[in-house]
This record gives sequence, structure tokens and C-alpha cells, in this order.
Amino acid sequence: MSLLPVTDAQARLLALGTPLAVEQAALIDAVGRWAAEPVVAVRDQPAHDLSAMDGYAIRYAERPGPWTVVGESAAGGGLDRPLAPYEAARIFTGAPVPAGADSVLIQEEAARDGVRLTMTGEGPLRAGGNVRPRATDFAIGAPLVAAGQRISARHVALAGIGGHGTIPVRARPRIALISTGDELVPLGAPTPGSRLPASNAAMLAALLAGRPATVFDHGIVRDDLDAIADAFRQAAETADVIVTTGGVSVGDHDLVRPALDKAGATLDFWRVAMRPGKPLLAGRLGDAIVLGLPGNPVSSYVTACLFLLPLIARLGGAADPLPATRTVMLGAPLPLNGIRQDYLRARITDGRAYAPDGQDSAALVALASADGLIVRPPHAPAAAAGDSAELLTLD
Ligand code: AMP
Ligand code: MG
Repeated sequence: MSLLPVTDAQARLLALGTPLAVEQAALIDAVGRWAAEPVVAVRDQPAHDLSAMDGYAIRYAERPGPWTVVGESAAGGGLDRPLAPYEAARIFTGAPVPAGADSVLIQEEAARDGVRLTMTGEGPLRAGGNVRPRATDFAIGAPLVAAGQRISARHVALAGIGGHGTIPVRARPRIALISTGDELVPLGAPTPGSRLPASNAAMLAALLAGRPATVFDHGIVRDDLDAIADAFRQAAETADVIVTTGGVSVGDHDLVRPALDKAGATLDFWRVAMRPGKPLLAGRLGDAIVLGLPGNPVSSYVTACLFLLPLIARLGGAADPLPATRTVMLGAPLPLNGIRQDYLRARITDGRAYAPDGQDSAALVALASADGLIVRPPHAPAAAAGDSAELLTLD
């Protein structure tokens, strides 16, 4: 099998899934998920003409008064009757402007003697001065959140003021994590000889912690065909996505591919033209999508960012599931690139991106201190300091 270009592999993986079932979620529970349907205002905002200042509700045409103060309008309340000519109402910020009034005389420009009100300054500059007219932010029926929009705190404010306590989103995908490798021990356990802490599942769970997904860690599975096939079958009973790490290369102990076959899965693709992450694999087992990530922790992380996160966004109904890049200026030259798309661990210093030499795909120190990944397309020509490049921002 030849190496699949990254964008083709992403498209094929996303095509394996469809958005999950729609459910109504409380606004706070919808944060980080994607609106499944458009959210439309069910109330005007503001619902009345409101005062923008503390002062007196008056008719602009009646300046400079005097007026008779006949009552008060406070936030949440209001005057119980319309104002007659040359009547005014005491009014506070956010309070409804009484019928009959059209402007607010701010209190700094007003003098009051009992119920007699006069103007001491210039007064409102126009009819409607110091008033926020009804529905200036939005009117009933206005589109507030588009389908596929990721919900942030700002959308919570908007949908909440728009009259909604819940909004439609997609169910959270259930993600099963399977770590393969005879060398692996649980985190924090002793590591005699060449044993190694199994950090990938924890890293993936951490990456998904802020995302709309429910993670089930199926633990460490030995490099044994039947053990891996059993783990696949068990995970497929409940998971929407099964993520394995390790065992996808071409060594004698790389058994994920044959185990998938044994479990009855169909392989969609294997091996992507990228570095790190070449041995990535995707397929389907029953209703579950299988994503086989390389075991190398740096490769695992990079492929999770480029494939697992977009897949979660796809299942969540995102309008645009693929990660965004931004253009940065290089701080140092980069050599001609080979046939694979490179993701270079880079730091940003004084607004310029630097990718240190020796991009060892097992180097976690460089990954942990990176600000982003410089994306080098296949066959990218040598680049000089000052040239621009695309950067994938990291969490
Ligand atoms: P593999 O793809 O199974 O050949 O693994 C590649 C490298 O990643 C090997 O050095 C493994 O020891 C290491 N590795 C595999 N799985 C994990 C894991 N869950 N956590 C940390 N390192 C791993
Ligand atoms: Mg292995």
C-alpha cells in the first residue's frame, strides 16, 4: 500500500462517521459542542425601549420643560400608565421608557424641586437620546447560532438572552482507548529493564478532557493476536470510536492490523504520508470507527490532533471539523522537505517560529515545550528566515 496524503486520509476518516443523535443540552452543558440546528431568538432584545442612563423620561419636543414628575420606572418594573404632555418619570438604567416618553434627560442635567423638573444642561441631543430601542440587539426570529457552530461562553450569553435554556447538540461520542505493547506498565509503576510507562492513554484522555467525548480506558493489552482481537470486540460493544496506540508498524509484534482482521473489522486505510505518524490506520468494526495510532508518544499526540480531534468534531456535527492553521514567519531556515508532510515541533520567539534541528519523533521534551507544529507540505522547497509557513497551534 502506498502512503496516503494527509488530507485524503483525513477525508476518508471523516467519511467513516456521521453526526451522532441530536439531544437537548442545558446551555452550560452545550459548551464545546456544536449546535445541531440553528438557534433562533424567541424574544426581542431588549424587549422594550430601555433607558441607557439614570435620569428622567421625557418627550424630546418638550425641552426645556418644565415637567411634572409623576412616578418612577426601575429595572424590571415600569410606570403603570402613559405620560401625559409635560409629565416626566424618574428612570434608572435598564428600566423601560414609559409610553409617551421618547428620550431620557440625564440626572446630571436635571434639577428637581419637589415634583417640578427642569433642564440645566443641553439635554438629550436628539429624539431617542439615551434610549436603547426595543430589539436593537436582535428581534424575535433572528438567527443567533448557526448549525455546526461550536458553542462558547459568548454563545451561551447570546442564546440565553435569546430566550433559550437548552439548545440542540449531538450526543458525546464514546471513545475506547486500548494501549498495546508487552513493554508497557501502568503510569507510576516500576519500570524494570526496558519496561515503559504507558503514557499514551493518559495523554489522549487529557487531550479529550476539554472536548465533548466520554472516554473509556480499556487498559494495556499484550502483543498477542487473540488478546488484541478480544479487546477490539469488547470495545466495539459500546464505543463509537476505538483508539489503539502502538502495534501498527510492520514489525513481528505489530499485531493491530491482523487483530482487526481477526475481529472482523474492515480496514479503510493504513499508512499516511506524514512525519511523525506514518503507520496510522483507520477502519470500521461493526458500528465503531477504529483509529490505530502509532505507539511513539509524539506520533500518537500529533496524529490524535490531526485525526482523532477532527473525528470527534465530525461526530459532534461541527461545520468545520479540521484543525485551523495560521500563518507565521520563520525565524530560521528550513531544508527542502521530502515526500511526507512534516509537522515540526516549533517555538514562537518574538513573533517568529523556530523549529530546532533533530526533530526526533520520540522527543517529548521538545513536544511539551512547543507552541505549535510547523506544517511542511510534501516537497516543500527550502525556506529562509523571514519566509512564511503554516502553524498548527497546540493546546
Ligand atoms: P510500536 O508502534 O508499538 O512499535 O511502539 C513504538 C514506540 O512507542 C515504542 O518505543 C513503544 O515502546 C512506544 N509506546 C508504545 N505504546 C506506548 C504507550 N502507550 N505509551 C508510551 N509509549 C508507548
Ligand atoms: Mg508495540
